[in-house]
Amino acid sequence: MRAICGRAAIAVVADHGGALPADEQALRALPGVGPYTAAAVASIAFDRRAFALDGNGLRVLARLGAVRAPVNRPATRVALHAMGLALVPAARAGDFNQAMMELGALVCTPRAPACGDCPVRAHCAAQAAGMNLDELPVKDARPARQPVHIACAVVERSGRVLLCGASPASCWRGPGPCPRRWSPPARRRQARSVRGVRSRPASWARAPSRAAACATSSPS
Ligand code: SF4
Repeated sequence: MRAICGRAAIAVVADHGGALPADEQALRALPGVGPYTAAAVASIAFDRRAFALDGNGLRVLARLGAVRAPVNRPATRVALHAMGLALVPAARAGDFNQAMMELGALVCTPRAPACGDCPVRAHCAAQAAGMNLDELPVKDARPARQPVHIACAVVERSGRVLLCGASPASCWRGPGPCPRRWSPPARRRQARSVRGVRSRPASWARAPSRAAACATSSPS
């Protein structure tokens, strides 16, 4: 799986003898492996009883149960996960999870679900209640996004590239990025400050090339 890479691969070699663990909790403990991936791998690759809850699953379950609580609230998500897990059969859990994914992607779509073709229509509370299906699942509105302008510079001298220390609060974790300035104020002023390279705590790191330095400092 795409998400199982890097640090997770190192942990698999160090802690599991190079073999991917079959247990959902052990998978969940791997760096970078979230609950969805852990459940999907445990069920699809190892036929363990687990429920992989993604956006499609949330929508299908919210409609099946006529759930009006916003699905982007943790408590609702927990309740829907429990509801889905209760439906997972003892065998072929992977097939069940993939069927749920396909049901959400192809039949119980966000708009105009194809209820006439739905294999679980007889169990659908929202359909039976004549609810407006396009309005399910309910979600809390997201807070308005705040635009943030960032200017950065690559400063290179004699084969060395200036990097700044990344603070724990930084949105960019890992190695220090190139000198940068955040907006709030005026973009022009930021650009001037970056041109003058008055960025704070900086250190000179030897880098093999400009390309490598830029790759190190790119936001993920
Ligand atoms: S009957 Fe309609 S709303 Fe209910 S699960 Fe099937 S496709 Fe979704």
